[in-house]
Amino acid sequence: MKKVNNIAVLTSGGDAPGMNAAIRAVVRAGIYHHLNVYGVMYGYKGMLTNDIFPMESKTVANIIQRGGTILKTARCKEFYEPEGRKKAYENLKKLDIDGLVVIGGDGSFKGAQKFSEEFDIPCIGLPGTIDKDIAGTDFTIGFDTAVNTAVDAIDKIRDTADAHDRLFIIEVMGRDAGYIALHSGIATGAEHVLMPERKSEIDDIINELQANERRKKLVNLIVVAEGDEFGGANGVVKHIKERLPQLDTRVCILGHIQRGGTPTCMDRIIASRLGYAAVEALLDGTHNVMVGVVNDKIAYTPLTQAVKAKQSIDEEWFKIIKILAS
Ligand code: ADP
Repeated sequence: MKKVNNIAVLTSGGDAPGMNAAIRAVVRAGIYHHLNVYGVMYGYKGMLTNDIFPMESKTVANIIQRGGTILKTARCKEFYEPEGRKKAYENLKKLDIDGLVVIGGDGSFKGAQKFSEEFDIPCIGLPGTIDKDIAGTDFTIGFDTAVNTAVDAIDKIRDTADAHDRLFIIEVMGRDAGYIALHSGIATGAEHVLMPERKSEIDDIINELQANERRKKLVNLIVVAEGDEFGGANGVVKHIKERLPQLDTRVCILGHIQRGGTPTCMDRIIASRLGYAAVEALLDGTHNVMVGVVNDKIAYTPLTQAVKAKQSIDEEWFKIIKILAS
C-alpha cells in the first residue's frame, strides 16, 4: 500500500456548526500519525488560488467549541471544469499532498469524486450539512446544533404566542429536506409540521385550526421547512389568512441563525469521530469514500453514492405530532 505523508483538509459548500471540531480532529489525528497536515482556505477555491498553509496542533487549539469554520468555505465555479481541477491538482502536487479530506455536502462530494477519478490524490468526504440529508450516514455535522437553535427560538416564540393567543407559522431551513422542521416541530409541541418530503392537506390544517378555535385553543404553532410545497411560511400564511382572516396570525422566519453558534456536544462528538476516522481511512487505503455514522458505527460509502438522500418519512412521525398536540 502506498504510504501517505502529506494530507490536506478543507471545508466546502454550506457551512455547518461542528466543522471546526472536524478540522481539529483531522489535524490532530494526522499529526499523531506523523503526517504533515495542510489547511486549504475557502474550499476548492483555495486549491485553485494556492491558499494552502501548514497546520500544527496549536493551529486548531481552542476551536472545538466555535461555530463556522476557521478554514472558511466557498463555492467554486472553476472546480466544475476539468481545467479548474487540473490547476487545483498542480497546486496540491507542489506540496506532495497525497490525501485530501473534504468536509461539506453532496455537491462537495461530487467535486471530490471527479477530482479523485482524474488524479492520483485519494479523497475522503465528511458530511457537514445542517440538513441531515446525505445517504450513508445517520447524522451529519451541524444538524444537531441547527435543530437545537431552532428549538430554542421556537420555545421563545411559544411564549409570545401564548401571551397573545396567536397562531405562529415558523419557517426553518430545509430546501430539500425537512428534518430540521420535523425534529424541532416535535420537540416544541407544534400542531403541524410541513416539509418537502410529504404533501400536506391545507384543508385538514384549516379544519383543525377551526376546531381548535371552537374549543378556545388559540395558541397554535406550525413549523414549515423553507422548501415545502407552499414555498415556506409566507405561502402557508396566505392560504390560512384567506380562509381564517379572524385568526391572529404571525410569521417568523428563523433564517441564518440556524447555521451559526456553538456546536452541541453531539455535533462535536460526531465531528471528532469522523475526523479521526477520515485519517485512519487515508492511512489504511480506504479511499474515495464518505465517512459516516450508521447505527453508532463508523461506515464508509463510496463518494459516488454519498448523494442527497430523498427519504420517505414514516407516517408514524405525523401521528405522533397529531396525537401529542391535540
Ligand atoms: P454542498 O457541498 O454544501 O452541497 P455545493 O453544491 O455548492 O455545496 O458544492 C460546493 C462546491 O463543490 C461547488 O462550489 C463546486 O466547487 C464543487 N462541486 C459541486 N458539484 C460539483 C460537480 N458536479 N463537479 C465538480 N465540482 C462540484
